[in-house]
Amino acid sequence: MQKHNFSAGPCILPQEVLKKASEAVLNFNNDNLSLLEISHRSKAFVDVMENARSLALELLGLEGKGYKALFLQGGASSQFLMVAQNLLEKRAAYLNTGTWADKAIKEAAIFDDILEVASSKDANYNYIPKGFDIPEDHDYFHCTSNNTIFGTQMKKFPKSPIPMVCDMSSDIFSRTLDFTKFDLIYAGAQKNMGPAGTTLVIVKEDILGKVSRKIPSMLDYKLHISKGSMFNTPPVFPIYTSMLTLEWLKNLGGIKAIEKENKKKSILMYSEIDLNPLFKGFAAKADRSDMNATFNLVNEDLKETFESMLQEAGINGLNGHRSVGGYRASMYNALPLDSVKVLVEVMSELEYKA
Ligand SMILES: *Cc1c(COP(=O)(O)O)cnc(C)c1O
Repeated sequence: MQKHNFSAGPCILPQEVLKKASEAVLNFNNDNLSLLEISHRSKAFVDVMENARSLALELLGLEGKGYKALFLQGGASSQFLMVAQNLLEKRAAYLNTGTWADKAIKEAAIFDDILEVASSKDANYNYIPKGFDIPEDHDYFHCTSNNTIFGTQMKKFPKSPIPMVCDMSSDIFSRTLDFTKFDLIYAGAQKNMGPAGTTLVIVKEDILGKVSRKIPSMLDYKLHISKGSMFNTPPVFPIYTSMLTLEWLKNLGGIKAIEKENKKKSILMYSEIDLNPLFKGFAAKADRSDMNATFNLVNEDLKETFESMLQEAGINGLNGHRSVGGYRASMYNALPLDSVKVLVEVMSELEYKA
């Protein structure tokens, strides 16, 4: 039975990417060797790494603009710490829009007191705070473009007088933005790019080397850049698969093309949430995420019926995060519009049944 995979992460990848990636596990480059058993220093893998790094910059429109792309380990969660290690000298400013932002703040607070410019914690993070000031005398400003758990997304980014750092784990490569506004972007691969196990970091080189502390080698962006993202053995399979996804996206027409598809999906999804009286959206309308739609049943008595209908329709991964409850439809790049149509049909069928 065909499945419709709304999983929040790890999540759906394009079928053709999965096929090519699995082929490479058995026979990479027609060499009769597995991608998993060749040296990461071989020309074949160095080419993969270079291709993945340059595709990432190309798709974001950042080629030749002083940025470097790295594929690191330790998840986006390690970036919470690494950003502070590399950039925090006096004090940093953070926007608190959810669980992940809060975790980023906790890690940075190991180094120094953190300024929270604004927070939506008071409303269980169902909106994005606006109209806050970013002080000029801080080292950097950190924000989270898409709040995977709560289903909110920053539609506009502030004009920051200091370097702007952004956790884009769950919406990178999903919409057009002026990426030159950001000085450092990071994203765990497993939400919109590849399997778990690597994290893309895009950093403008000129913001580095300004802190006085000694940085441990594995946490030092400058060192990773100087080694071509191969200071130690990189996670070859997640990087190869990410490269395939980036190629897939480029062949589709890049971010502009996928953004159109993503819009169609989210418009369809939210119109059902709004029109169907059995459901209620969680996030403030103006801040709704095009990637993760969060919603609840108005009447919990329908839970069993709804969930058995979901199962019958082959819908997977729709459970909300425990801190929000209800449902979360994650509509990442690789999710077909047809899957959203199936989900919306089930929701409207429930309305007739109820
Ligand atoms: C999933 C997620 C993370 C955590 O990523 P890991 O790779 O598991 O460390 C961080 N930030 C955001 C916005 C996420 O969606």
